[in-house]
Amino acid sequence: MATVLEPTSFAPPKVRQTQLLIGGKWRDAVSGKTFATVNPATEEVIAEVAEGDAADIDLAAKAARAAFESGPWAKMDARDRGKLMTKLANLIEDNFDELAALESLDNGKPICDARAADLPLTIDCLHYYAGWADKIHGQTIPIRGDYFCYTRREPLGVCGQIIPWNFPMLMAAWKWGPALAAGCTVIMKPAEQTPLTCLRMGELAMEAGFPPGVINVVPGYGPTAGAALVKHPGVDKIAFTGEHRTAQIIMADAAQTLKRLTFELGGKSPNIVFADADLDAAIAGAEFGLFFNQGQCCCAGSRLFVEESVHDEFVDKMVERANTRVLGNPFDSKTTQGPQVDRAQFDKILSYIEKGKEQGAACVTGGNRYGDKGYFIEPTIFTGVTDDMAIATDEIFGPVMNILKFKDFNEVVERSNRTNFGLAAAVWTRDVSKAHRIANSVRAGTVWVNCYDVFDAAAPFGGFKMSGIGRELGEAALANYTELKTVTMSLA
Ligand code: ADP
Repeated sequence: MATVLEPTSFAPPKVRQTQLLIGGKWRDAVSGKTFATVNPATEEVIAEVAEGDAADIDLAAKAARAAFESGPWAKMDARDRGKLMTKLANLIEDNFDELAALESLDNGKPICDARAADLPLTIDCLHYYAGWADKIHGQTIPIRGDYFCYTRREPLGVCGQIIPWNFPMLMAAWKWGPALAAGCTVIMKPAEQTPLTCLRMGELAMEAGFPPGVINVVPGYGPTAGAALVKHPGVDKIAFTGEHRTAQIIMADAAQTLKRLTFELGGKSPNIVFADADLDAAIAGAEFGLFFNQGQCCCAGSRLFVEESVHDEFVDKMVERANTRVLGNPFDSKTTQGPQVDRAQFDKILSYIEKGKEQGAACVTGGNRYGDKGYFIEPTIFTGVTDDMAIATDEIFGPVMNILKFKDFNEVVERSNRTNFGLAAAVWTRDVSKAHRIANSVRAGTVWVNCYDVFDAAAPFGGFKMSGIGRELGEAALANYTELKTVTMSLA
């Protein structure tokens, strides 16, 4: 995996694949259209990528259906499916340097983050689910009467998967892992901002030997390619990660065909620091929990609650720490913060910063664009934030930390839960019972205690309330990709 000695700067990779992968073949879009994918650090076009729309989705749905029903995949032993997945994981590892560089180029994230997080987690996720392929089984059930009753977990079918741009490869692995382990076929619609690594993963999947049509990759825009996938009658399920507003559109669009839906959506996660915490650890965790990946994490600790008695000391140290972040060329190993992914996100974040100032929060560091090229924003910290301010209620998805003061336990629980989101939460304390009481009281799918953003392929992840439906990762995600069948046989 990652080498021990890292070079100080990395070379941008060659872009090898820009077409659509449908039925095991690379092809241009039916319309012949392409769209540009842009390097957010330089605002320059990296490549033109084939732009899929409804016609291409239709071809992909047919290819995925044929592969699901009659291809070699349909008859393949489960353990052999797992072997193919292991091969794909190994090929990703063999091409580690290239893929990390491609992720950094297309997304703007520091290459060191791609090497330390995105790539290892992607590889791990595929290995983890490869191990599940031959362990998905039903039960025998002692029903009344002279019958033999058992259940089977059958693959759900053709699965449409729509992913965002913040962790392009990792989101693809989270989706492909359980789907392929279960024996489904997939049509992946990567985000229009970051199609390149997913296309390259598709290429490696073909090299691994996945039969044609099992994995299809159709880049394009949400309202065209994405919506066509959601509405297509030949697609059995949509797994979506992105904004809750997009999920609302998808839910309405999927109603006609009653597709199975799983959603992993946004958040406004409380990160709670009690006065009895190891403050240095809490500060390091708060920095990571908010600024990692340029603040573009659905589980970002974007409401940082700090107990009154340590608030001022915490803020001083937090500002000092935020100011040590190194913005710049993502290919430089010293860089810890890259640009935001595109102009739209950049503008949205700057407008939230303005709202924060207008509504009376104190911007104690940052608050501006960094440099004059690329979508860089200074690490920004607001204090004096109150629960009703836009920066405390809305998902900003950028390097904007909001510090809220609290006095006691019950108050912070109530305020933490005063949101429609419920993706994650964290608590920093040396008091074990307090930690458990927070973990039990906060309405969120994941609670971290004295840590933040600890992910593992085996640990389920997903949201309460408007942060999602269903769980990704772990054994739980297999349920998203299987149908339960009950078989009852007369023994008379
Ligand atoms: P963001 O605003 O962070 O880009 P989105 O929810 O808009 O988040 O996008 C996440 C994914 O959803 C992307 O792949 C995007 O193309 C897709 N998408 C956007 N709108 C739709 C839609 N109406 N139907 C299906 N997919 C969509």
